[in-house]
Amino acid sequence: MSPKPINVLITGTNRGIGLEMVRQLMEDKGRVKKMFACCRDPNGPKAEALQALANKHPDIITIVAIDVNNLESIKEAAQLIRSQLGGSGLNLLVNNAGIALEGNLQEITTKDMQDSFNTNVLGPMNIIKEFLPLLREAVKASGISGMSCNKAAVINITSMEASMDVTKHSYAEAAIVPFRVSKAALNMLTVCAAEEMKKEKILFCMLHPGWVRTDTGGQWAEIDVKVSVKGMLKVIATMADKHNGLFLDYEGTTLPW
Ligand code: NDP
Repeated sequence: MSPKPINVLITGTNRGIGLEMVRQLMEDKGRVKKMFACCRDPNGPKAEALQALANKHPDIITIVAIDVNNLESIKEAAQLIRSQLGGSGLNLLVNNAGIALEGNLQEITTKDMQDSFNTNVLGPMNIIKEFLPLLREAVKASGISGMSCNKAAVINITSMEASMDVTKHSYAEAAIVPFRVSKAALNMLTVCAAEEMKKEKILFCMLHPGWVRTDTGGQWAEIDVKVSVKGMLKVIATMADKHNGLFLDYEGTTLPW
């Protein structure tokens, strides 16, 4: 029996990995009941591709304004989404929006690090806190045992470059200190959330998308956005209790801390 269609929220969906996630989930017919595709400026020119996709699926996709650096916008979005869900809750929340500021320790500024923490750590933290009531509603409404994205799951898009072990080998080619440090903090936030929420059966996991050809990954990156997202959606679909708090890549491989 195929699972019930799920309610999904993804941040940073106007381009890159977020946009492709919305696209592939729409291709999986009947998989999504409601898709809340979030971006900073829904009516701006940078959201045209997302608007076109939403026009194709008007009963499923709602474009929602969220700047993850702005708590008020997160709170307003949570209220709007709650009113649209009518008690069925949010089954899958993907904290995808992120920035990748470069530089080694001697080059970076306090502002670089503050901006990175605001977007990559405080953004996901506030999203999790504000949408927790809707994740709880999904647990209640699901009627299924065990953790999964059919019940309630939060996926934080992180990076392999946040790994201490990986950094020892890759730092010389890519310092990207604000990115590494903020994504490592995001990983810790995810593990804390996984521990705190496991009794409520809300799954938390972090996923490295691969080195992907997007504005962040650059044109020389290893994989196409389609491959990355296809892999991540497959991994997300198979997640269960044993994946709670894990640091995985888009192929489901466990990464070292
Ligand atoms: P892109 O640069 O293509 O897209 C980044 C997305 O994040 C955009 O939609 C952008 O919106 C959004 N965003 C940035 N800041 C905010 C904000 N304050 N509020 C709301 N949205 C925001 O990057 P990717 O698609 O490659 O990245 C997606 C995720 O994957 C990120 O978390 C990134 O760190 C992670 N990642 C990517 C890798 C890669 O190789 N591509 C490798 C490892 C991790 P806007 O257009 O408004 O700026």
